[in-house]
Amino acid sequence: MDGKYKRKKSGILTVYAGCMFAGKTDAIIEKIQDLSQKNKSILVLKPKIDSRSGSSLIKSLTGKCWLAKSVSSSAALIKCIQSPRKFKYLFIDETQFFSSRILPAIDAVLNDGIDVYIGGLDRGFSDHNLPVMNQLMALADVVIKYFAHCSLCNALANKTQRIDKNKKPIAPHQIIRKNSDLVGGTDEYEPRCRQCYIAFSWSKKSH
Ligand SMILES: [Zn+2]
Repeated sequence: MDGKYKRKKSGILTVYAGCMFAGKTDAIIEKIQDLSQKNKSILVLKPKIDSRSGSSLIKSLTGKCWLAKSVSSSAALIKCIQSPRKFKYLFIDETQFFSSRILPAIDAVLNDGIDVYIGGLDRGFSDHNLPVMNQLMALADVVIKYFAHCSLCNALANKTQRIDKNKKPIAPHQIIRKNSDLVGGTDEYEPRCRQCYIAFSWSKKSH
């Protein structure tokens, strides 16, 4: 080493994690707005399966929204972020819908000096781990956990309860739609604290 060797700058991975209604997408949109005002080159991606906010928008529950490219699969996401890259900042919202296959591609983006911001649920409505989010949280330089307020007692909530029209909790095996563990209208979920969350054991039907 002659002392002139310059280390390449790595990107920083920030994960915004938590239950539904916790303000993750609000925080992501605020960060995008901030970078956008500085004329930074930004790519915003979201999964196509999440159609709650329209095909080309990420939208927070408080009404903030931003244009996003909708991608249909983990393979499509990888294609969008692989080299050559025209963006300097990468945002992915609702990341829990993708698989762990995206991790090496995100790692390559970070190695190229690009900052990455990830938003997503850290646990599903049946309180199980969501591997891709858990792995990204382990890989992250910064993890910010968001909490909602419990719909029953107003305490801090870190769990998402799936509910029916009568606001009764639904067990995983009662849901039969594909990917229904994660997709649904906001009226189909409630934030719950640890005390008020109703846990269901996984039945054979749910596997
Ligand atoms: Zn509660």
